[in-house]
Amino acid sequence: MLSTQDEARLDALYDSMKRANDNFLGYPFAKNFDYSALWRFMDLTGNNLGDPFDEGIYRVDSREFERDVVEFFATHFRAPVDDYWGYVTTGGTEGNTFGLYLGRELYPNGVAYFSRDTHYSVSKGVRLLKLPYAIVRSDAHGQIDYEDLKRQASAHPWQPAIVVANIGTTMKEGRDDVGKIKAALAEAGVRDVYVHSDAALCGPYAPFIDPRPVFDFADGADSITISGHKFIGAPMPCGVVVTRKYHVQRITRAIDYIGSLDSTLGGSRSAFAPILLWYALRTLGLDGLRSSFEQCEALAAYAVATLTERGVDAWRNAAALTVVFPPVRDEVRAKWQLASQDVSHLIVTPGTTKEQVDALISAMTLTTEPVPGG
Ligand SMILES: *Cc1c(COP(=O)(O)O)cnc(C)c1O
Repeated sequence: MLSTQDEARLDALYDSMKRANDNFLGYPFAKNFDYSALWRFMDLTGNNLGDPFDEGIYRVDSREFERDVVEFFATHFRAPVDDYWGYVTTGGTEGNTFGLYLGRELYPNGVAYFSRDTHYSVSKGVRLLKLPYAIVRSDAHGQIDYEDLKRQASAHPWQPAIVVANIGTTMKEGRDDVGKIKAALAEAGVRDVYVHSDAALCGPYAPFIDPRPVFDFADGADSITISGHKFIGAPMPCGVVVTRKYHVQRITRAIDYIGSLDSTLGGSRSAFAPILLWYALRTLGLDGLRSSFEQCEALAAYAVATLTERGVDAWRNAAALTVVFPPVRDEVRAKWQLASQDVSHLIVTPGTTKEQVDALISAMTLTTEPVPGG
């Protein structure tokens, strides 16, 4: 039993996390999920040790459900029906590291290319893997500069390129075009190209955007990652990485101890995260995901319009849920937990309410009157 003192600390932690959840607009985490139907699983030990697509000695697992989750994203990202593989990760960082790892195993003498707007997990990944890399310029909207990519790759066209394409940069939700990346590299004379699409936030809704971002398997990507706790939402970080079978065959090893194949970065892996993602995808369905995206997009459009009306220089990329504006005052930044670099932003995710957006806008524009039409 907990001591009274510890009980009080736990209560205080809950209250403070709850309050922070209610004032959380600067990071792209959905907040309106309800996984209470799954609480009974918290009494069980669960471990998805080994390859999701291979049987093992282990049965305290949810790998059957993990395969469903991977299949959902493989289909969503137009992977060939009989040629995809993937697993539920601990988050976008693991997925990016895994994608870079597959790229490096395919092209051991490759050079990694990614734009300066790329998430910091990618520079960590290239350091871990000792991959030489080149950082490419980007435009004001966060999209990679294809001319600069071509220019940099032209310096060593005989070296394969391992490119990380951003399908939604962290700060501006800028989206790179995998087709244009491949064209730039072809013009530079690079023959061997591996493309990993980092779709941490946008992956679940990118296929609904019109025109569709050019990022998936049909567009030529070799691996794609999403974060599960971002647009879909989860109480703990998780993610999904999907790739082609032949890429993963190169890294797979048979392990007697688990009676399965070792093909994932983690050894012991959460059995619970795949159940959560499965539950979210089954309850929402494609239509639910789409309407959830449409609601978020409408609220993001409203935020840009209202901020603009009030004289704030706010904008967003086409169909983006990220509203970009100049850095805000420290109090506002701290209260709403807004990330700040050269710009700051608000990210509308499932569960973000108009009241929260209005409160942030009022705080940013220093008025106490209600927002017109609010
Ligand atoms: C959040 C994010 C990541 C990292 O994902 P985690 O789940 O936090 O590890 C990678 N890339 C982009 C573009 C992101 O926004």
